[in-house]
Amino acid sequence: MNGDKRKPPEKECYIPTQDISCVLCQEKTEDSNHLFFSCQKATEVWYDLLSWIGKSAALHSSASNHLMGFSNIGHKKDILFLTGLWICTVWCIWKKRNDIRFKQGKWSRDGVTAEIKSHVWSWLQVFSKYGSSADFSFRDWFNVVPLAN
Ligand SMILES: [Zn+2]
Repeated sequence: MNGDKRKPPEKECYIPTQDISCVLCQEKTEDSNHLFFSCQKATEVWYDLLSWIGKSAALHSSASNHLMGFSNIGHKKDILFLTGLWICTVWCIWKKRNDIRFKQGKWSRDGVTAEIKSHVWSWLQVFSKYGSSADFSFRDWFNVVPLAN
């Protein structure tokens, strides 16, 4: 028997130690669908990328539907590129989220978008048979529309 009647039950002692609000917008609860696909900050990056490749689309807010929609906005031959771009974008948003959460980093829409383009450039140089990046200088890559309409 516990003789210390002043000690409250464990569940009443729980104090949240972690802020669960989205580190990008600080307005919504952070979960994966919000962070990557419906947060206003992340959405701006997705639409910047759509503009970069010369496409427009309404993007979904759930991961599987977002990937399906994004990777199929171009021609069939573009699916590999678009899937790679999608993966890279999620990865860069996640890295920036962690940078903000754990290292007091700052959100930069242009910085994240530039980082995504830079990584995709590197990936295409090394892994892809897509080939379009080889037609452009690295500087032009940032401004060019890589997909045909
Ligand atoms: Zn958010």
